[in-house]
Amino acid sequence: MKVHLTTLGCPKNQVDSELMLGMLTEAGFPLAERAEDAECLVVNTCAFIDRAREESVQTILELARLKEHGRCRALIVTGCLTQRYGGEIMREMPEIDGILGTSNLPAIVDLVRQAANRHDWATAAPPGYLYDASTPRLLTAKVPYAYVKIAEGCDMGCTFCAIPQFRGRHRSRPLADIVREVQALAARGVQEAILVSQDTLAYGRDLSGNGDIADLLRALGDDTRMPWIRPMYLHPAHVNDRLVERWAAARVVPYLDMPIQHADDAILKSMRRAVTARRMKDVVAQFRAAMPGVTVRTTVLVGFPGETDAAFERLLEFVDEVRFDRLGVFTYSPEDGTPSPAFAGQVEPEAAAERAARVQEAQDAIAWERASKLVGTVTDVLVDGPSEDGAFAWEGRTAGQAPEIDGVVYLRGRRDFTPGRFARVRIAEVEGYELVGERA
Ligand code: SF4
Repeated sequence: MKVHLTTLGCPKNQVDSELMLGMLTEAGFPLAERAEDAECLVVNTCAFIDRAREESVQTILELARLKEHGRCRALIVTGCLTQRYGGEIMREMPEIDGILGTSNLPAIVDLVRQAANRHDWATAAPPGYLYDASTPRLLTAKVPYAYVKIAEGCDMGCTFCAIPQFRGRHRSRPLADIVREVQALAARGVQEAILVSQDTLAYGRDLSGNGDIADLLRALGDDTRMPWIRPMYLHPAHVNDRLVERWAAARVVPYLDMPIQHADDAILKSMRRAVTARRMKDVVAQFRAAMPGVTVRTTVLVGFPGETDAAFERLLEFVDEVRFDRLGVFTYSPEDGTPSPAFAGQVEPEAAAERAARVQEAQDAIAWERASKLVGTVTDVLVDGPSEDGAFAWEGRTAGQAPEIDGVVYLRGRRDFTPGRFARVRIAEVEGYELVGERA
C-alpha cells in the first residue's frame, strides 16, 4: 500500500511527520510523492489556533475526495487536531478511517497496516512520546536544514495557549541523544540544525544531571560538525546574566527568536508571561551587547482580553524603541480549555485585526531600514535550492534568516552556486523582506 503524508503546521509537526515516514519506510511501505498516487493518505494536522484548525479540516475534506474518485482507500488523521479532539473528529468526519494523536507516533505503522478497517483513537494516553536518535526519520524536504526537537510540551501555562493541553508537560530529550542525532544529521550532509521545542530555555530542567540549554549548545558546538546551530523559541522569562554569557560563547548562529507576546505589564501579567516589559527590553539589550550584529526576531499577540488603546500604544512604543529585525504578529483567538476566553474586556476581532495591521506597518518600516544597511556587505549564505522566484536560479539564507519565516536571499548567477553548500555573497539589493545577492 503506497502512502502519502501531508504535513500542516509548525516545524515540530514536520519532525513528527519525518519520523512517521521513517518508520513507515522501515516497515516496508512505499511512499507516493503525490496524494493522487497513494492508497493510504495521512494528514498530520495542526490545531494551534482557529485558522490552523480550519486549514486542517479543509485539507482533510479535500483529500477525502480522492477516496471517492481516486485510488485512495484509507484516510488517517494524526497530530494536534486529533490529540486535542480525539474521537469527536471521527464522529464529525465519517470519511476518516483512523486517527492518531501526537503521543504514540510508532502506532502509525499498525494503523496503515490495518488501513482498510476503521480504528478508534490509538492514543488515549496522555501525551508522552519523545523520539530518540535511533528512531528512523525520513528527511522530506530537499533542503540543507533539519529541525531537531530537543523537548516536548510546556509547563508555562500562558493563559491564551492550549498547547500544554495536547502536547503535555515539558519533557526534555537526554543531551547525549540530541548530540548523537545532530552528529548523524551532519554526516548526512545537513548544514543547519534548527533546535525546536515549546520552551527551549527550559531544556534539561526535568532531567537531573543532564545539563541545561547552555550545556547542550556547548556540547553541540564541541562534539558535532554541524555548521549552523539555530535554537528557536526563547522565553524571555528564563533569561539571566549567566545564560547570556554562555549563549554568546556558544557556537550558535547570531540569531535570537524571542517571542515577547506583549509589552504592557498588565497584559503580560494577565497572559501569565512571568516577565515585565522593562525586563524584556534589558534582555534584548544584553544579548545585543554580548553578540554584536545579532538578528533579533519576536512574535506579538494583539487583541488579548483587556488590551485597551493605551495598552496597545505601549506595545507599539516598545516595538518602535527596541527595533526588532523581524517580527510576527498574531491576533488573539479564544481557545477551548484556556482561561483567557473568560477574561473581561474581550476585544472585537475587527479591532484586533486593525491593531495587527498597525504593528505590521510599524515593523515594515523598521525592518526595511535595518535590512537596507546590509546592502554592500559580504556574508555567508547557505544555498537552500532552486528559487521560487523565476527570475533567479537559486535562493539561500544568511545566518540572520531562519527558514520559512524570515525571507531569503535571491542569488544572481546560475553557475556560481551549489545547492546545499555555503557561499560568500555580496548583498546587492533589498526587496522588502527579501535580499538579492551575488557571489563575492
Ligand atoms: S510558553 Fe506559553 S505560549 Fe509558549 S507553548 Fe508554553 S504556554 Fe504556550
